[in-house]
Parts: sequence; C-alpha cells; structure tokens
Amino acid sequence: MHKAPGSSYTVSTTCPYCGVGCGVSATVEGGRVCSVKGDATHPANYGRLCVKGSALADTLGEQGRLLQPRLDGVPASWDQALSALVERLTALQAAHGRDTVAAYLSGQLLTEDYYVANKLFKGFLGTPHLDTNSRLCMASAVAGYKRAFGADAVPCNYEDLEEAELLVLVGSNLAWNHPVLYQRVKLAKERNPLMRVVVIDPRVTDTCDIADLYLGLKPGSDATLFNGLLAFMVERGHIDHIYLERHTDGFEEALKAAQKSAPGVAEVAAACDIDAERLETFYYWFARHLHVVTLYSQGVNQSTSGTDKCNAIINAHLAGGKLGLPGAGPFSITGQPNAMGGREVGGLANQLAAHMDYHTPSARDCVTRFWATESLTPQLPEGPGYKAIELFEAIERGEITVLWVMATNPAVSLPDAARVRRALEKCPLVIVSECVANTDMLAFADIVLPASGWSEKDGTVTNSERRLSRQRGLLPPPGQARHDWQILCDVAGRLGFGEAFSYAHPWEIFDEHARLSGFENEGATRRLFDISALAGRDRAAYDALSPIQWPVTASAPRGTARLFEQAVFATPNGRARFIPITPTPPQQTLCPRYPLRLNTGRIRDQWHTMTRTARAPRLMNHRAEPFIELHPADAERAGLSDQALAIINAKEGEYRGRVRISSAQRPGEVFVPMHWSDQFTGAGRSGALLAGRTDPVSGQPETKHGAVGITALAPVWEATLILRDDALPQELPWQGLDYWARIPMAGCVRFQLASTTPVRDWPARVEAWIGAPATLFSEDAAANRFRGAGVYNGRLAWWLMVGPPRELPGTDWLSARFNDNTLVLQHRRRVLAGCDSGAEDTGPVVCSCHQVGERVIKKAIRSGDDSVEALGARLACGTQCGSCLPELKSLLEEERGRARFEQAPATQMA
Ligand code: SF4
Repeated sequence: MHKAPGSSYTVSTTCPYCGVGCGVSATVEGGRVCSVKGDATHPANYGRLCVKGSALADTLGEQGRLLQPRLDGVPASWDQALSALVERLTALQAAHGRDTVAAYLSGQLLTEDYYVANKLFKGFLGTPHLDTNSRLCMASAVAGYKRAFGADAVPCNYEDLEEAELLVLVGSNLAWNHPVLYQRVKLAKERNPLMRVVVIDPRVTDTCDIADLYLGLKPGSDATLFNGLLAFMVERGHIDHIYLERHTDGFEEALKAAQKSAPGVAEVAAACDIDAERLETFYYWFARHLHVVTLYSQGVNQSTSGTDKCNAIINAHLAGGKLGLPGAGPFSITGQPNAMGGREVGGLANQLAAHMDYHTPSARDCVTRFWATESLTPQLPEGPGYKAIELFEAIERGEITVLWVMATNPAVSLPDAARVRRALEKCPLVIVSECVANTDMLAFADIVLPASGWSEKDGTVTNSERRLSRQRGLLPPPGQARHDWQILCDVAGRLGFGEAFSYAHPWEIFDEHARLSGFENEGATRRLFDISALAGRDRAAYDALSPIQWPVTASAPRGTARLFEQAVFATPNGRARFIPITPTPPQQTLCPRYPLRLNTGRIRDQWHTMTRTARAPRLMNHRAEPFIELHPADAERAGLSDQALAIINAKEGEYRGRVRISSAQRPGEVFVPMHWSDQFTGAGRSGALLAGRTDPVSGQPETKHGAVGITALAPVWEATLILRDDALPQELPWQGLDYWARIPMAGCVRFQLASTTPVRDWPARVEAWIGAPATLFSEDAAANRFRGAGVYNGRLAWWLMVGPPRELPGTDWLSARFNDNTLVLQHRRRVLAGCDSGAEDTGPVVCSCHQVGERVIKKAIRSGDDSVEALGARLACGTQCGSCLPELKSLLEEERGRARFEQAPATQMA
C-alpha cells in the first residue's frame, strides 16, 4: 500500500527479524518511515517490541542499498542482467543437465517469494536442489516433528507458554533471541507465582533471570538428559498409560533405548556434568505436572544429533500425555521471521511443495497436475535435492554450475566458510539477489540483482506458532530494486514459462499457494498444512488479512490455535511415534591442540550478518566488537585479561575478537557471536571455525560444538579512529592490520585497530591512511600515546586516539562534533580530549532503547536506586523493550555484592 508522496499514514505490518513475528505499527510521513511501534492488536506481541524491532525505522533509507543490477562487476540494466542470466543458465543447464542448477534461499523471504522460487526451480527447471538458510536454524526440529507426528507441525502457541505450570527452556536464550516472548513469560510468572521455569543450557544466560532451576549441562548431552527423564517417569509411575495405548506407537523400544543410555539419575547427572539433586528436582517437576511446555531452539537443533534430541524431548511429552492441552507440548521456536513460511511452500531440498515430500507416492503426480507441468521436459524431480552443506560440497565438486542465492549470506553464515568460499569461486554462474550494496557474498556474484527490503516487501510470513501475518509494503523500493517474486517471474517469462508465472500481485501467488495446500488434501495422504479456506478471496481481503494460525479450513475458518487436541496425528494410522534414541556425542572432537568446546550464537541487539541492524548506530553500542566469552580459569591459563584481544584457532580457520571473561561460561568452553562478517572486522566470522558436520536425518550443521584453541593477540598498540561518513577512503588501508573492527555511528564510523608491529611516526602514518595531515595532535611517545584530528574547512573529518580502548571517552560528544557543520572554537579546543570539559563517561551501553550506560547505572545504584523499577524511574533504562532488564538485575546484584564486601569487617573477609 503505497500512498501519495508527502501523505502521512500508519500501516500494520510484521517485524522482519526473529521467529516471534511481532506485529508492527509503522507510520510513514513525507515518504519515509518516521516511527514504528508494537501493534497492540497483534496476538504475538500485543504492542511490545524488542530493541531490534524498535529500531527498525533507523535501518531504512537509500544509503548503503543496492540500487542497480550488476553484471560481471559493472552496473547494468535489468534487461542486460536478466538476458545474461537466462542465456547463461540455459546454456549451462543444457550442457550439464537439469540437476546442475540450484537455489539457496532464506527465512527472510516472504512466503510469496518462496512459493514462486520453489515452483520455478522444482516445477519448471526440474532441479531438486533448492534449499534455504533455515536449514541452519530449525531443520532438526522439523525432522523431529515429522518422525513423531508425521508432519512438520508445531503443536503449541504463545499462550501455552503463559499457561504452563512448568516451562522448560532448552538451548534457548529467550531473553536475547526471542525477547518479546521472554517478556510475556516473565509477566505470566509474575502473575502466577506457582509457575515454574527451568533453564537447561551450558551457559548462564540472561534468560536464567526467570529460572527457578538452572541446569548447566555439558554441551551435547541433552538427549541423555531427556532419555533419563523418560526412564525416571516410568520408574516413578508418572506415565499416562491410556494416552500411550490409544494414541502412540513404539513406547517399549524407546524406553529400552532410554534405560540403556540413562539408567538412573546419578548416571545421567555424571554424563551431563550436572548436580544430581538439581537433575532429580527437574525430573520430579516434569513428571508431576501435566501442563508442561518444553521450548527448544538452536541449542538443541544445531547439532549432529539434533533430530534425536528433539525426539528425546517429544518422547517425554508423549509418555506423560503432555501435549494437545493448554499450557502443554514440545515447542520448537524458530530463529527467522519466515522459516515456517518457507517450510509451508516446500522450500527445503527434501520437500516438494505444500508439506508434500518425495516419499509420498502420489505427491509428485499431485503437484505436477496442480502446476500443469505434465508436458514439460524436464519434469518434477524424482527425489530430494542437496541440503545446504551438501549443496556447497557439490558446488566444490563441480556438480552444480548455477547457483542463485536470495536474501542470505552463505559466505559468512555457513560452517567451514573457507571451503564455502572456494566452492563459490569455482561455480561458473553465481546470481545473488540482495538489498544491501556490500555483503561478503556479493564478491562471488557474476550477476547481482537489487531486491526490495522490509518496508517495501508485500506478502505474508508465518511465525513460530503457525500464525500467518501480513508483512505490508509501506514504500516503493528505491532505485531499480524489485520484489523477489517479480524478478523470478520475469526470469520465468524469459525462459518461456510466462503463462504459469503471470502474477500481477502477491495476492495472486498467495491464492495459488492456499489452493495448493488444499489440493487433493484428503484421505490417507491428508496433510496438516491446509489454508484452503483463505483461497478464493479477493485482493482487498488479502490486504486486510488478520493474523491467523494454520490449519485454516472449511471446518476451522478462524484458524487453529493448538494441534493434536484430539490426539489424532498425521501418521498413516493417526498415532504418534516414539523414537528410540541412542545419544551420540558431538562430531567435532577436542584434542590437545584444540582443547576448548566452541559455542556460537546470537546477541541481543544484532541480527544475522548485521547488514540491517548495523545501520542503526544505537544497536552497535551493546556489543560493539566481535568478542570471545570464556571462563576465568581458561582466561588465566591462556594469559588473557578481560578486554584483551585474542585469536581462536581451529582446523578450519581462525577468529579474532575481544575477550570477555565470564563465569557464566563453563570451564573449557568458549562462546563467540555469529554476526560479524568481513564487512565489519578482519577475522570475526564464527563460520570460519566450524567443520561442516551435519545431523544425518535433518542435514543441520553442528554449529554449537566446534573444537578450538585460544592464544593472546598481544598487540604493541591499539587505536581508535573515527571518520566522518564522507571522509571514509574507498579502500580501508588498515584492513591489513592484525585486528580491526568497524562500528557504525551516527554520521561517522569508528574503527578499533591493533597491531603487533610498532608505529614510529604516528603523524606520518595517519597522513598515509587519511591522505591529509593532522591539523591537531599531541604525542607522548614514551607512553605510546598519540591523539590527532583532521579539521578541514571548519569541519571535523577524523579523530584518532592511540592507546587502549578503555581510555576512550564516551563517543556521544565526538559523534555530535562530526555532525557539526562548523566546529565552534570552544569545541575545537576540546577535540583532542574527545569530550566536553567535565563530561561524564557513561560507560558501555546497557539499555539500547534509551542509550543508558553501565557507569551511569552503577552510580545510580550506589546513590540508592536498589531495584530495576527505581533505575527505570530515574534513568528510563529498561522501560521500553525490557531486553536489558536481566542485565540491570545483574548490575544490581554486582553492586550489592560489592557493597557487602566493602562493609564486611576485615576478620570476616579473611
Ligand atoms: Fe522483532 Fe524483537 Fe519481536 Fe523478534 S521479538 S519479532 S526481533 S520485535
């Protein structure tokens, strides 16, 4: 819905980040999105937004967008780019075979984009090799559901999280990764003091703030823990025998396997490296309560035995009949906004379309007739294609000659990134549809196509509770950018398939998708995914579509809040299946050279490879640089202090980042974030450290279990360089240093630099970097300190401080000076100091919404603000999205501990 330029309007749409799928109310004024708020009517969030969602308006604008197609590295017209694409694709497919063409999609795409891509590649190009980055996120959860329930069907909804008597969070840092759900659970717990929360995670995360019980298990031991739970339930007589007999198969075999690997609480506690009493308490709570939700996420899925872990969880729920009820069920929460929408259309390589798989005999015939591809050569593929890791291995072997990547960055996000990059270099034709002008992936593209992004895209997404919502277009795409479905339809037309891809609006695609979901959906091969009641509506109804949970059928026209309430499953006999689980350890094994277990994951304020979230400067302040979190004992052993720079080594590559020492980390384990790419740092890609080991059932890679070593980087100098946006050189000359990190700020960019090679002449060095001399500088060579700045035509162009980052004053004042059109004298005098006289250093940002720093918070606590409410009343921190509340609490705890320590008499301390 694009309105006249200059008009003002508010539109309900959906957040493009995580799988919670929050409703957003966006206001457009004068052709730009000027504000976003939580949509109070959306059932996912009822008006709440986390810090990422709240900052959406700051991530928009033409700067940094890809605005024109590129062909072989030079700008081209759409006609030139698509003509070349079709000509090269046709020639390569004719020469090497239909199966040599592949697509790699993304959970960021809308369902309509996904549907058209799947139809074109599988239906009309006849290749099965279409997979998606959702493979990295939830493929094991999908496989687990299909094994147990016969369908990729999440039984629960968000209200179940609030209604549960016991909520078990496994491998999920909900507070950071699904913050709005975390807020909902926190509130539910406040309202119902009897509700219990158990957190099972190797790391003590902010989510533990709501935990009644925390189990810090050994990474990879989840299946043993849940096998032990099944054995415990049987031993203590907490099995629902009626449910088992009437609605399930395979219990005895599953129990035998569980008892073999987890004979008793003591053995399980030892295998999982947790306290036996705590473990028994969890088992007891789980066994005694009926209304139990187990919410699991990447900590379970991203493993070479992720599917087994999911089924070990589901087994325990089936044994107690703890599903299909309010506040009960095994609930996989997805990372991406439309991972589920992609699954609905068949956007995984092992799926065909609309929840139909190749192994169902009638499925191929059904889809062929629906898409009317009977007369085509080639016809629909006969079997599954390559899953993500296999796909890039096939590219490396030369089996795939054409790869079209849409809305994702596999050069960063896949494990064994060096191998992925080698494969991409070898691939004869790489096409990339992207909305951002600079990503690591674009360096490998022969043809680059500018795609629309959030605020322009128009279609639907499905969140983690099966709820379809409209993501509405607010503005037209900038430059020459086009919607992904339009690009695909244009290509299909040029390939001669125009009739089957003649959609004029996403509404028509959605209508076809809804019709396919109900097509021949009956009898023995009945599919749970069915939204046929949404077909046959007009465009106005599509535009007005309210959030609704599938299935949406003639018998359930208002959607379906919860599945399996009648305990009828999507298996041929309608019974759920227990799966016998034999736990297997991680495949990336530790050794003397690589003795530390590597865990990777997301952080609170960033999304994926930061292509969008890094455009909002306030989101860069919480964690500004790539970091390495490790236990104090490991830090001591490696000779590392907090905030030092270190190098993590693995067989596959290395990673450089800043050390964060934390006892929240188990000894022997390190954590690094997954967000940094070559655009933001020299060697900060977590994928470079991981081998491409995968789950044999789901194909999901093991990104939580790398094997690494750590050493100090030990630079002889560190520096902070800030440059005004328009003073940035084309090529950054400091990229060859031992360490650099880029931190976007408002109107300028900060770089953290470090090197093991001394600099003898800083004025000369800085002039070589910037191309102009410093107009102000001061130096203390003996202390290895230097400060310099370039003020040209009255404007501050750059500022440099050589010295450890802890000496950097708060950057707000400097950032404002970079945006001064003329530097007034009083500011000019303060430039080298980098702050106003008497200005307070606020410290690292804790509350991103209100930009409140740690030092200010600590000061307030010391002056008597002894609760998060008091801090909120004084400083506003924690009063908007609430994502920082756990951090505020731990600062309160830390300060209380410090005060107790300082007040204790010396004898007591001794
Ligand atoms: Fe977006 Fe945050 Fe909601 Fe996730 S929790 S959908 S990132 S606002």
